[in-house]
Amino acid sequence: MIDIKLIRENPEHFKKAAANKKFDVDIDRLVELDELIRKTKTNMQELTAEKNRIGKQIPKLDAGEKQEAIGKLSEIKESEAGYQEKLKELQPEFERLMLLVPQPPDEDVPVGEDDSENVELRVEGALPEFDFEPKDHVELGKALDIIDLERGVKLAGTRNYFLKGDGALLHWAVLRFSLDYMISQGYKPMCVPLLMREEAMRGTGYFPGAEEQTYMLERDELSLAGTAEVPLTAYRSGEILSEDELPLKYCAMSSCFRREAGAAGKDTHGLYRIHQFEKVEQVVICRNDEAESRKFHDEILANSEGVMKALGIPYRVVSVCTGDLGKGQVEKYDIESWMPSRNSYGETHSASRFYEFQARRMNLRYKDSNKKNVFCHTLNNTVIASPRVLIPLMELNQNPDGTITIPEPLRAYMGGREKIG
Ligand code: AMP
Repeated sequence: MIDIKLIRENPEHFKKAAANKKFDVDIDRLVELDELIRKTKTNMQELTAEKNRIGKQIPKLDAGEKQEAIGKLSEIKESEAGYQEKLKELQPEFERLMLLVPQPPDEDVPVGEDDSENVELRVEGALPEFDFEPKDHVELGKALDIIDLERGVKLAGTRNYFLKGDGALLHWAVLRFSLDYMISQGYKPMCVPLLMREEAMRGTGYFPGAEEQTYMLERDELSLAGTAEVPLTAYRSGEILSEDELPLKYCAMSSCFRREAGAAGKDTHGLYRIHQFEKVEQVVICRNDEAESRKFHDEILANSEGVMKALGIPYRVVSVCTGDLGKGQVEKYDIESWMPSRNSYGETHSASRFYEFQARRMNLRYKDSNKKNVFCHTLNNTVIASPRVLIPLMELNQNPDGTITIPEPLRAYMGGREKIG
């Protein structure tokens, strides 16, 4: 959420930001509501002052004047009730609109319509050259009997799967390796709840807006989080932290649930776009300082790049353009991994910084050195998401005989073995 004072001071900036980010919100109406609410509150304060003034005078008045003053008081009460009613009408519309205003992107974010206008920053690792006809992950997985898409669909519908035997072990190996990597970087491992209350979904910025993408359990008024970003970021919501606790650095391995509404017919092959997967996520909560936020943005990106380098997966880093940014994101870097079967890079990580957008929505503050309560800054990035990352892992490490060489850092998690198959 944005500080209304900033919107009041420069509505055009927020209109432009919303347009660049492709969010539809009526900033003019918001400013109008803000003015009406403030005027109504001022009127009420004036009435209260008048009421107090009259109240104090009454004992000094003679009978006739008293009667008149009492009449005046009941008029004031009526006007007050009218203003109360007006506030009750205005406030919900104001609050609804406030939740829709996107965080403006930073100046250095490329302006663009969609992901086709994301800007490549750098490329890491050489693309593979096969001296045999490589198979894609579905063919490899079927032949090795480690991926079963048919029975996944039979039991749970489209975009579902089973990983079997070494497929399941490889999936857990890459997750466990990534989690251990984050622990070695000083991030606190957390085991998190995934059935979230509305406050956490709203606080992180997913609601309102992403309801269509979220599995909701209406009977219990809970939603299945699409990412551990939600519980990790909202963990200390509503609290006032002490400055020396910061930065908080968390990581968690969790299942992620995505409805993928609107993605019909897109990425239907294999394990790329599915409804349920596992992810190791990293979250940083830091002081309200742009330079510090930027520093941690570089850090969370470097963490994920460290994992990708260790796994030997070629990738590129792109700066995500305004039209492809989420509501609260100030700036986002995606890591896209080389996927031979797609003959292209595919998104495997998203590193975002939010400044105080999420913290303000969830009232997450700290007491600064001047004893002032200020909103924290928040950031997050994927450490690894599997099975999407199994696509490059399996395809890049395949051998002509259909076996898969297990990348060296994962062997310790697979009984020291070097190969699948
Ligand atoms: P996000 O939280 O949407 O930024 O996604 C983080 C990462 O999770 C992506 O970069 C992918 O690696 C993975 N991911 C997201 N959605 C899906 C999906 N539907 N199926 C498989 N992996 C996904």
